[in-house]
Amino acid sequence: MSSRDYLLRATAAEGQIRAFVCTTRDTAEEQRKLHNTSPIATAAMGRLMSAALMMGVDLKGDKDLITLSVKGDGPMKSLVATADSHGTVKAACANPYVILPAKADGHLDVGGAVGKGILSVIRDNGLGEPYVGQTQLLSGEIAEDVNAYFSISEQIPSSVGLGVLLNKENTVEASGGFIIQLLPFAEESLLDKLEEKLKTVHSVTDLLKDGHTPESLLEFLLGDFSPEIHEKRELSYFCNCSRERVEKALISLGKKEIESLISDHKAQEVRCDFCNKRYVFTEKELEELLKR
Ligand SMILES: [Zn+2]
Repeated sequence: MSSRDYLLRATAAEGQIRAFVCTTRDTAEEQRKLHNTSPIATAAMGRLMSAALMMGVDLKGDKDLITLSVKGDGPMKSLVATADSHGTVKAACANPYVILPAKADGHLDVGGAVGKGILSVIRDNGLGEPYVGQTQLLSGEIAEDVNAYFSISEQIPSSVGLGVLLNKENTVEASGGFIIQLLPFAEESLLDKLEEKLKTVHSVTDLLKDGHTPESLLEFLLGDFSPEIHEKRELSYFCNCSRERVEKALISLGKKEIESLISDHKAQEVRCDFCNKRYVFTEKELEELLKR
């Protein structure tokens, strides 16, 4: 599956500002097709994946992974997106079919679907314990929550915008977003000027409606601050599951769990939450896992 999605990594104001800007239409649509998500879930998952992709590109190591996990008391319950440093992401949610009335402004009520809860940001370099940062959800609208994570957990003054635009058939018309961050040595006056500019951004979805590309979005947001693009990266939805990984996951469930599967005396099907791929284990194969 080829994807037209991409991301720009940029700086502005002579390096005092750094920015990530992306479009993720194909990624969001791939997710929607895989999980048959309702419009609200499509929007929530698309926003979360855009954020994960932009944060993933900032990872240092080749094998590093970043996971954004949202657990709320709303009907969506939980959603998760994991991105690597190469521009791929996979995502899953507990309740892909949630439907709620639109908000007064006509937008999808993502905050209502997610509810109150916790955003966890898990950085895993594959060696030892992952690093986990957590913040309370501010609104459940995802962008504000990721923004709160940056300001509270990482103490980086940031502005995060995320949006997903659906068409009449409830497929994804456009998706994307931005993360703009001020570096510690940035001048006070720059902060004011940037805040002034970002106040004019009311809805990323409305910007996407105008057909912005990452380049034009960057120009729109930071055109007054002499932006410089340092990297362009293609983005796509990709699940790296394999039979080997599923076997490991089964083993990690423990002896009792595997024994209870065997006691069914029939082949067991394990489905990947991220891509729906099915892995079948016969009774004999499960017995072999037990020995390992
Ligand atoms: Zn998979």
